[in-house]
Amino acid sequence: MSEVDAILKKALDGTRLTKEDALLLLEVEGDGILALGAAASRVRERAVGNDVTYILNRNINFTNICTGSCKFCAFRRNAGDADAYFFDIEKIVEMAKEAERSGASELCIQGGLHPDVGIDYYTDMLGALKKSVNMHLHAFSPMEIFYASKKNGHGTKETLALLREAGLDSIPGTAAEILVERVRKEICPEKLSAGDWIKVIKEAHTQGMKTTATMLYGHVESAEEQVEHLSIIRDIQDETRGFTEFIPLSFVHFNAPLYLSGGGKEGSTGMDDLKLFAVSRLFLDNFKNIQASWVKLGRKLSQVALSFGANDLGGTLVEENISRSAGIKIDMVTEHELFRIIKSAGKAPVKRDTVYSHQ
Ligand code: SF4
Repeated sequence: MSEVDAILKKALDGTRLTKEDALLLLEVEGDGILALGAAASRVRERAVGNDVTYILNRNINFTNICTGSCKFCAFRRNAGDADAYFFDIEKIVEMAKEAERSGASELCIQGGLHPDVGIDYYTDMLGALKKSVNMHLHAFSPMEIFYASKKNGHGTKETLALLREAGLDSIPGTAAEILVERVRKEICPEKLSAGDWIKVIKEAHTQGMKTTATMLYGHVESAEEQVEHLSIIRDIQDETRGFTEFIPLSFVHFNAPLYLSGGGKEGSTGMDDLKLFAVSRLFLDNFKNIQASWVKLGRKLSQVALSFGANDLGGTLVEENISRSAGIKIDMVTEHELFRIIKSAGKAPVKRDTVYSHQ
């Protein structure tokens, strides 16, 4: 039996994989990746059966004005740029009402680090939304929470408590990128540190707020650093059980300053994506849900990812400005279309809410 076969057998037997195992799996190439997919599919089936979930939600990126300088980001603008924007709370409430009328159950709200925005804007927004719509508020990355706490002189723990009191239900686990300082220094030196991301996430979990876990891959990181990232989130999940799902996000290079200035790869290839989904499913034995983002992968590859360990397609989103700014052509996906993608992958479509209660 080859070394890779032995690792796959170990995963199928329910034994936890080591970081060395994961690294060896990430070195598999060509048709060997299909065997990883087959093993990941069996493990997925054990975790969630034949169901593939999706959610009706709406994204609101309330501003693209940002004092940050992440080199992978094509979304940010300076105040005063011709295409800079900032939504007032009234507009956000209108967007939310429209989303509720269309049947969405979740608002996913994130924005740039606006120089004039602090905790009051966030809490006022949450309060106004809770008064106007009956929707789950999934909002503000750990970076936004860290930023608000720095600006207002509160600790992140207190900031989280204020947001929760104002109506925050759960938090997107974005801004994680790769949780390794060497990589962060290269792609987002001004962002919160890996240690601070972990701290905010654990504090949110401790206060009863679920979060997602994400990983931005396919830029400057090595396979070892991908594994380190997976291992960090597996450890957090062991401790808190607060992650609802893992969402691998492939780097979109087209308009990213990192790529345009000669750094970073041209994103991942389809085989890299599928391999990462399979390895994530096999390594993250304490995650029930792995999401294939149709926004990042496209409809067709996200469908194939359902045979490589993924069991969720994410949301309808309605508007997603961050990936669009990075250079992907996105139009909205309908529930009918998600249904069709899932059915023709041989799986059972199931509508869910943010915390994976089926609807
Ligand atoms: S990723 Fe977020 S924090 Fe970084 S530059 Fe873009 S909008 Fe700003």
